[in-house]
Amino acid sequence: MTKFSVLILGNASAAPTLTRNNTSQLVNVNEQYFLIDCGEGTQTKLRENKIKLQRLNHIFISHLHGDHYFGLMGLIQTMNLLGKTTPLYIYCPSNIEEIINVHFKFSESAIKFPIFYQHVNCEESEIIFENEKVVVSSIPLTHRIPCAGYIFTEKPKPRKINSIAIEQYEVPKHQIYKLKLGEDYVAADGKIIKNKLLTDDSSPSFSYAFCSDTKYEEKIIDIIKDVTLLYHEATFSEEHSDRAKKTFHSTAIQAAIIANKSNAKKLIIGHFSNRYPDLNILLEEAKTIFGNTEIAIQGKEFNIAEV
Ligand SMILES: [Zn+2]
Ligand SMILES: [Zn+2]
Repeated sequence: MTKFSVLILGNASAAPTLTRNNTSQLVNVNEQYFLIDCGEGTQTKLRENKIKLQRLNHIFISHLHGDHYFGLMGLIQTMNLLGKTTPLYIYCPSNIEEIINVHFKFSESAIKFPIFYQHVNCEESEIIFENEKVVVSSIPLTHRIPCAGYIFTEKPKPRKINSIAIEQYEVPKHQIYKLKLGEDYVAADGKIIKNKLLTDDSSPSFSYAFCSDTKYEEKIIDIIKDVTLLYHEATFSEEHSDRAKKTFHSTAIQAAIIANKSNAKKLIIGHFSNRYPDLNILLEEAKTIFGNTEIAIQGKEFNIAEV
């Protein structure tokens, strides 16, 4: 089975605490890594979780508030020290290239690997990355500065070959890839054997949506409809809903309403204000609306196929 998971590296909003790092998550699709956000201290969290920095080539930044990218300079510098030569791709809705270039200009550091920047559309959803396993699209969010979330959707998987039927109908090996794509088999005598007789349904495809800093925004529901696992920020409890409104953030209840309305299978909440030493307040509030909710506990890996 293809690996598809998300590892929580940080779950704090604004200032980090001794036990909570700023936002960062590592998505693993078939052993290819995608880092989402890179708050201060992300590289040490990656090391703590035995993630090799050399394997990181794609970084998705949601927006340019410091709690989402202040770890990037340190990470790039360490990658350089480790002798990285492969290109690094950074996706961001704002001009992060200018910030990074100024930083390394004044520190007179020569970064020896190429960095490519891609501007992310946060006005409307568009595909920003695609390979043979997964498609990543942007999710326009409503925050104080341009901000994008990201949805990772597995591509449809090949149909499963029924080896007994293959033998029975004497299908040659070089035709098997066509069967996996859903095509019928045409025998040497011209007889058509229906694909359904030769294959079984493919495994389901899963999806993961990362909704970074945002006010409650129903516009995202269509984009994340039927998502398998939804991460949605839940900076505040109901008691501080005024504060959430003022700062363009969400409450735990609002995150749960979005999960409910988008028909998500599971919700994880994060980006917690450090005024809540006990996160169960937020969890319990969310659960009154959406039962299958969990806290984005730092160091926890969620296997998306098993949520
Ligand atoms: Zn934030
Ligand atoms: Zn923010």
